[in-house]
Amino acid sequence: MVRLLSACSLICLAFSASAVELRGALTQGSLLRGQAAVGETIQLNGQAVTVADDGQFVIGFGRDAELTQQLAITSADGQRRIETIELRPREYRIQRIEGIAKRIMQPNPDDVARAQRDAKLARAARARFESSTAWQQDFIWPLQGRITGVYGSQRIYNGEPKSPHFGIDIAAPSGTEVVAPAAGIVTLTEDMFYSGNTVIIDHGHGVSSTFLHLSRMLVKPGDVVEQGQVVAQVGSTGRSTGPHLDWRMNWFSERVDPSLLVPAMPR
Ligand SMILES: [Zn+2]
Repeated sequence: MVRLLSACSLICLAFSASAVELRGALTQGSLLRGQAAVGETIQLNGQAVTVADDGQFVIGFGRDAELTQQLAITSADGQRRIETIELRPREYRIQRIEGIAKRIMQPNPDDVARAQRDAKLARAARARFESSTAWQQDFIWPLQGRITGVYGSQRIYNGEPKSPHFGIDIAAPSGTEVVAPAAGIVTLTEDMFYSGNTVIIDHGHGVSSTFLHLSRMLVKPGDVVEQGQVVAQVGSTGRSTGPHLDWRMNWFSERVDPSLLVPAMPR
């Protein structure tokens, strides 16, 4: 049975003595933290999900994830049951811009090669598996400021959709401190073509935070960071139009919405 525990939608789908509990928003773009019984194994849509020794596990759903997801739970004695997770569809901010001349940015071949190398490095950093369960912490904002960009938003220029925005943009003066939203291990610090100075923190079990456009990176790969520790400073490096932090979160290659994991931005 799946029991949902969530601040934003407290829905008891079902309950039994051997319940699997899920904590999080039942929507596209969500990271769901689960509790299985000790010894149970979990599969999501046929793919094994690592369960910690205490039964904790985490799964994530991308921006346009299928609304019906299957969780298979196998108990220590081999009994298997299937639970269905129904996700609510999200309404994303879509901006249609018609009849204006498109600003053309033609990166030169060296830039293209660099951007491809960057993407490969980021993919590798997000694909790795850390046994840490820091993702169980209640996430905190990496900094406070005005939110100028949201997850999932997309611009359509003259009918041509651009790739969606997957981070939260938080405007702040250059040099503002950026802290780790949860504990983790630093897996990447690179100056990248599009995202400028970029830091990835692995929170374990495939959950990672990525910070873009930093002016300074104050950590290096292999550093273990505590929640709230200063890791970088806000900047406008890479292809950025002004100082801000772009905070992204992943569950492996699935891009999830960081704003679903933190309380409302303090005013
Ligand atoms: Zn952004």
